[in-house]
Amino acid sequence: MARITGKVCKLCRREGMKLFLKGQRCFSEKCGINRRDYPPGVHTRPRKTTDFYVQLREKQKAKRIYGILERQFRRYFESAVRQKGNTGENLLVLMERRLDNVVLNLGLANSRFEARQLVAHGHVRINKQRMDIPSYLVKPGDEISLVSKEKIRKRAAEAVEMNKGQQVAAWLEASPGELSGRVVAMPRREDVPHPINEQLIVELCSR
Ligand code: SF4
Repeated sequence: MARITGKVCKLCRREGMKLFLKGQRCFSEKCGINRRDYPPGVHTRPRKTTDFYVQLREKQKAKRIYGILERQFRRYFESAVRQKGNTGENLLVLMERRLDNVVLNLGLANSRFEARQLVAHGHVRINKQRMDIPSYLVKPGDEISLVSKEKIRKRAAEAVEMNKGQQVAAWLEASPGELSGRVVAMPRREDVPHPINEQLIVELCSR
């Protein structure tokens, strides 16, 4: 077997799966999991396989990927139930529309944590207005930009440079030179890049 040199991040190791917390790095050879042909921790923990366990794991995975706590996740689920269409797809689309997720997707930050900090510290503008709520749900027409502070723009420019091979979601339009982006459409299920089985989550949350 090839020697594993990439690092498996702490949360991914704990959950035993890819959680995509580090932006472009997660899709590259730098991710230790990409270099393995077995999940992290598989040799040390016995796996249970009841329906409940599998469903719970799927929900935990979605929460970890988007960095959401249980209460907020419940709110998203209730909102997804109230919307027309498939509840599972509605749920994923709601999480995908979070502002911190969009900042990460545009390549303005190197990790979800960094993207969330950028928003929470008031460095992000929506339609030129300050927006410091990471859970703000973007909508078509929203323009995402950064404050003019040199230090912030320099760091974002470095992130853009590091992420320049990254595919930006089809529902977003990135302007890397201006460190900004625009929402051109609502995301659809096929725009969600994470391997989440939303049906399992719906089954669990509908119990
Ligand atoms: Fe780290 Fe991303 Fe790989 Fe997880 S998927 S181990 S966060 S690089």
